[in-house]
Amino acid sequence: MPSTYDVINPANESIVETVNLLSLEETDAVIAKAAKAFENWKNVAPGERARLLRAFSQVVTDHREELAQLEITNSGHTRGNALWEADNVANTLMYYAAAPERLFGRQIPVPGGIDVTFKEPLGVVGVIVPWNFPMPIAGWGFAPALAAGNTVVLKPAEYTPLTAIRLGELALKAGIPEGVFNVLPGKGSIVGNRFVTHPLVRKVVFTGSTTVGKQIMVGCADQVKRVTLELGGKSSNIIFADADVAKAAAGAPGAVFDNAGQDCCARSRILVQKSAFDTFMEHFEVAVKKFRVEDPNLATADMGPLISKKQFDVVESFLDEPVAFKGSAPTGPGYWMPPTVLLPKNTQSRSWREEIFGPVVSVMTFEDEAEAIQMANDSEYGLSGSIWTRDVGRALRVSRGIETGALSVNSNSSVRFWTPFGGFKQSGLGRELGPDALDSFTEVKNVFISND
Ligand code: NAD
Repeated sequence: MPSTYDVINPANESIVETVNLLSLEETDAVIAKAAKAFENWKNVAPGERARLLRAFSQVVTDHREELAQLEITNSGHTRGNALWEADNVANTLMYYAAAPERLFGRQIPVPGGIDVTFKEPLGVVGVIVPWNFPMPIAGWGFAPALAAGNTVVLKPAEYTPLTAIRLGELALKAGIPEGVFNVLPGKGSIVGNRFVTHPLVRKVVFTGSTTVGKQIMVGCADQVKRVTLELGGKSSNIIFADADVAKAAAGAPGAVFDNAGQDCCARSRILVQKSAFDTFMEHFEVAVKKFRVEDPNLATADMGPLISKKQFDVVESFLDEPVAFKGSAPTGPGYWMPPTVLLPKNTQSRSWREEIFGPVVSVMTFEDEAEAIQMANDSEYGLSGSIWTRDVGRALRVSRGIETGALSVNSNSSVRFWTPFGGFKQSGLGRELGPDALDSFTEVKNVFISND
């Protein structure tokens, strides 16, 4: 009996499409195909591989509207976000299209001959994607992996397979050879786990929960399989009294409620210096009430629904702490929840410690710089965060003091395809994006050639 999954539109709970989920045998067949395709792909001339990636990028751009529409329907992403996400795939492909021709090794001075290093591709790379950002997170894995000469098997999350399936078709349309980029819709326990156990998959790039990430790491140890982990977060938005407090407050809803808070980088802890608390909260309340939660197809939407009933129930379980104020949300079918601002009793409160992955933020105060750093670091996570201050020295001291992988000062943006992204502590292992990502998809080979 083939297994299937009904994809649900989270904005109205209608069934969008029924997707076939791959069995173990089908997964093995695709991995074998990817391993065979690797033999040719690794030998495609660098300039030709670059050309094919540029063509793939262009085809994605040509289909941005279609891809965005699929994501709006499948994931409830706002139109603005979904278009950005399709463009992010095209941009990431274009950025790494420059890599094959620049995958330099080194020539190292040694006695008796010459010594050179090569960056060799790994083989088949397995990319496992979560449901919160199906397109960008897929692209951050497959674009550098393909550029470095690997072939890819990619498993989208059960809830959100549609854009990944379409990207697989678009790769072929762009001329990427059959078997080089393969999309395998399926269950984590079957397809995802097979990437971990199959000896021909030489690396796993996993983005998802910290709990599953730990299992993947344990599983990969058995074959000393390379692994990159992008896991959970509980990031801080730290506002000092010397900052442009009104600007920080105006940006704070987007920093946590974007994508309905289903964002590993969500600044779900707000730390405000005590002397600025009242001013901040006044401006923040205005901004939260203006944050438009509505049909994600509307160009004006700031936020859509949560992904599923299950996620709705998880997020709702955090709402038993004191509420400062709430925004609004549509009623009726769909997994709608208003943005909610909590005032937890202390730093042991559940909302302060756990990743909520929904439109809920907790606000607490601090006295001084040292306490702000201590409170921000009091977490098992360390992914992202923001610091608002007009004092350059303070910005620098606090940036260096916080144990987190991607910080922004007087801004809430943490992800750019030009710069490294990844977590400290239990937020992950390794870095994606930026100029160094190719190192995660290659092995260094050293060759000594004797003068004799
Ligand atoms: P999840 O861990 O449940 O699932 C992630 C992916 O892993 C899915 O494709 C799933 O099918 C697969 N999977 C599940 N069990 C598996 C197993 N045993 N073996 C192999 N694969 C398996 O996470 P989710 O609920 O889809 O996503 C939400 C989580 O992802 C949050 O914790 C969030 O913080 C995290 N996340 C992190 C980043 C980052 O870059 N750090 C980005 C986005 C999301």
